[in-house]
Amino acid sequence: MKITVVGAAGGEVTGSAYYIQTDRASVLLDCGMFQGGKKSEALNKPPVGARQKIDAVLVTHGHLDHTGRLPLLAQRGHTMPVYATAATIDMAALIIRDSARIQAGDAKRKNRKRARTGEPPAQPLYTEQEAEDIIKRFRPVSYNKAVKVATGIEARFVEAGHMLGSTSIEVTISEDGRQKRVVFSGDLGPRGVPMLHDFVPLREADMVFLESTYGDRDHKPFEETVEEFSAVVKDAVARKGRILIPTFAVGRAQLLTTLLGWMFRKNKLRPFPLFLDSPMAIEATKIYYKHFQETPELFDERLLKYIEQKPIREDLKTLKPTVSANESAAIGKCTPPYLVMAGAGMCNAGRILHHLKENLAKSETHVLIVGYQGRGSLGRRLVDKEEVVRIYGEEVPLKAQVHTMGGFSAHAGQKDLLAWFDALAPSKPRVILIHGEDGPRQTLADLIQQRHGLKSTLPAMKDTIEL
Ligand SMILES: [Zn+2]
Repeated sequence: MKITVVGAAGGEVTGSAYYIQTDRASVLLDCGMFQGGKKSEALNKPPVGARQKIDAVLVTHGHLDHTGRLPLLAQRGHTMPVYATAATIDMAALIIRDSARIQAGDAKRKNRKRARTGEPPAQPLYTEQEAEDIIKRFRPVSYNKAVKVATGIEARFVEAGHMLGSTSIEVTISEDGRQKRVVFSGDLGPRGVPMLHDFVPLREADMVFLESTYGDRDHKPFEETVEEFSAVVKDAVARKGRILIPTFAVGRAQLLTTLLGWMFRKNKLRPFPLFLDSPMAIEATKIYYKHFQETPELFDERLLKYIEQKPIREDLKTLKPTVSANESAAIGKCTPPYLVMAGAGMCNAGRILHHLKENLAKSETHVLIVGYQGRGSLGRRLVDKEEVVRIYGEEVPLKAQVHTMGGFSAHAGQKDLLAWFDALAPSKPRVILIHGEDGPRQTLADLIQQRHGLKSTLPAMKDTIEL
């Protein structure tokens, strides 16, 4: 039995994919898209060779960097089942469809240019039909119950506290009378955010694949971040500025709107115009509402109690979801103060680019960075406070105030990663660190060595690990 790392390794944080093979079965765990700069995006190929079979796919959670290459499997003609929790299936379907639309749009734009220069037309990475073909393959699993997913391979999905439906996956692999247990952390959420449940650590493994996104640092506690967020928003409103928040459509957008509603309900701030300028975030919010109704047990008790007192939408009368491009363009004509949440989360595409291009040169603009910014992305340049950034081929001086709020991250900080691992450490698993840039990954490896005397492996892309 062996596992080949076909994404989120060698310092890459995106593109998560792991290929598990035994004599009798092959299972792929996650099939994510590489995101960030052009160099990462060039890696967006099917994770395994054309002749290699896949009996089942297991998906930890819906984010694009864990699901975005799934349609490439349909393109190759694979027809295996794809297992995930019901909430992950809803989120993944939304995210994959959106990705296919973006791919089609990008190809169209390129081809308009190519038609002028006489170059052969570009093909999208995958089509909307291929996205539908893979979405049809999803099969829901329950939390905590082991399911047989292929001959000699069982999987158990356990809460990871990272986004709605997110899980770690424990895979039990049998071959020739031997049995090995491999735990994939998936993306782990920070503890103590009163929206979803905290992660549930696992206790036994022969091998663990642990994410290391923030292996080198801790976030500010959530409560402190809420204070900081309130202060920035209040100040910006008082100065009649614009607040721009690049948000991942799923998770951060819902957390921040809930938080703004809470500030209004508690009279910490007078209601002012908020724009949810992302058709996808609007759809994701509907999925949240659907699961409030159908599976309230997925949410933190504090959130459920809060909603019981009064529905969130009553606090958010000044929130305008903008679906059409015309509505989006009209936001720029509004008199500030106002706040805009728009995708993409790393500012590498989407409506946020227009808002940034119009407003980055104004000192009264505030940009709030609330999620991870991949190397090479525009969001990372803003975090690094570069003096001038390029948007749509134009140079824009960065005069706006950029606030990085790690405490809103959907990823566990160092302390929480170690707490998750502490539960597993007594079973002395072999540790494979993935999903982190080189610095954070090494720092986490050193800490695990110090605390538990366990050496970590830091695989490169395409490395195969024997079990
Ligand atoms: Zn994620």
